[in-house]
Amino acid sequence: MKLTIASKLMSKWDQRFCNLAKFVADWSKDPNAKVGAVLFSKRGGDITVGYNGLPMGVEDSAERLGDKETKLEMIVHAEVNAIVAAGLRAHGATLYVWGKPVCARCAGPVIQSGIKRIVAFSPEMDDGKWKKSGEVAHEMFKEAGIEVDFYVDQESDSQQSQVEKPQAEPGATTTPAT
Ligand SMILES: [Zn+2]
Repeated sequence: MKLTIASKLMSKWDQRFCNLAKFVADWSKDPNAKVGAVLFSKRGGDITVGYNGLPMGVEDSAERLGDKETKLEMIVHAEVNAIVAAGLRAHGATLYVWGKPVCARCAGPVIQSGIKRIVAFSPEMDDGKWKKSGEVAHEMFKEAGIEVDFYVDQESDSQQSQVEKPQAEPGATTTPAT
């Protein structure tokens, strides 16, 4: 796995937490989308994880999970599960997400919980409804002053690495001397 943010290799700890989110994503029973989230709070070593699934006590039968409409209505996303589990410890934390872009439905709880930084798939990595929802979420994060780092896995399929184009830093362009 070679994870990059704006074409730069991610820091060792960012990579570790994304790896952990990927590992946790696999615990999801959702047959279509497995998403994992890791909340790393300001105090070192304080980690909370979440994955997408039906709420506690709500039967997550294969039949129900296979019925897309019902599943979408009932499912709790990985981000929200991690936020609820972390409680006040989410304040000031960094949220790492693997599997899907953070959607607009999760953006509200993410902002209200006091999370300060998000490291997640770029909305560009999804070509369906999650792209649109991810873009709405991004707009909300920008307005709320949350730092967002979108990453790509350079070693995964080429489609994913193609969509993320390196963005020029403001002021990084050089003007030819006249
Ligand atoms: Zn969501």
